[in-house]
Amino acid sequence: MKTITSVAALRQVVSLARTAGKRVGLVPTMGYLHDGHMALVEASRKQCDVTVVSIFVNPTQFGANEDLNTYPRDFPSDERLCRDAGVAIVFAPDNKEVYPEGFDTCVESGELAKPLCGGFRPGHFRGVATVVCKLFNMVQPDAAFFGQKDFQQCAVVRRMTRDLNLPVEVVTLPTVREPDGLAMSSRNRYLSEQDRRRAVTISRALFAAQDEFRSGTRDVQKLIAVAELHLQTVDRLQYLELVDSETLKPAESPLRRSSALCVAAYIGSTRLIDNVTMELIVS
Ligand code: AMP
Repeated sequence: MKTITSVAALRQVVSLARTAGKRVGLVPTMGYLHDGHMALVEASRKQCDVTVVSIFVNPTQFGANEDLNTYPRDFPSDERLCRDAGVAIVFAPDNKEVYPEGFDTCVESGELAKPLCGGFRPGHFRGVATVVCKLFNMVQPDAAFFGQKDFQQCAVVRRMTRDLNLPVEVVTLPTVREPDGLAMSSRNRYLSEQDRRRAVTISRALFAAQDEFRSGTRDVQKLIAVAELHLQTVDRLQYLELVDSETLKPAESPLRRSSALCVAAYIGSTRLIDNVTMELIVS
């Protein structure tokens, strides 16, 4: 496994692989890798010949009062996990490599970036779309792997890739969870022992609503109310919305299109997000 920090060196190695006819997969991450990330790596390993994992805590997707400076990092452990998983290249550029002096161009998503997290994290999806677009251009992968855990991010990236004709297949994989249901996240490490126990209420809420959906309920307010009941113990509910999976606009009752129930909530001072989908066959 190679650890590469410059775009020029990365391009050289990847273009050699591509000339040799190899399919290149990219797993973009902010590091502090867990089993959720590693599921993306595994999928890339299965579908591609060469897997590149990027590790970059992207400053432009953090707001002024967010956790950029305290975001958990453990590069040696990330490298170890990647090596053990058969990753070919860890791409770990520094801020200057990604955003050179005078950097002045962004990718701005439209409607998809407005609801859900977009309403509470202004500029977040501009940062995400910009860095993902740059990573696609730096790595030039055939496929890139993202987790459904960040549902809105997947929608934004998929649309950007289509709208800007980026020649990358965007693959989305299901959320990997702890045994009690909590969605794995690098930010879970912020939770105290007690908060960690309380955090399970978020996935419980979503699963309860999903069960209600599976037993035939199609009324949006009813589905939301089921989840809400469980969420009374969170310290602050930022949003709980049932949205159309494709447009991210509020779902309409009765549900006729595949939808996602998305939540952002604080447990203590830790903001956690999660979602479940409610699939409908559209005829
Ligand atoms: P991050 O390092 O948090 O920016 O995440 C990097 C990638 O891993 C994104 O595509 C995330 O959606 C994905 N990811 C994070 N947590 C999980 C999880 N629990 N299950 C599946 N994918 C995840």
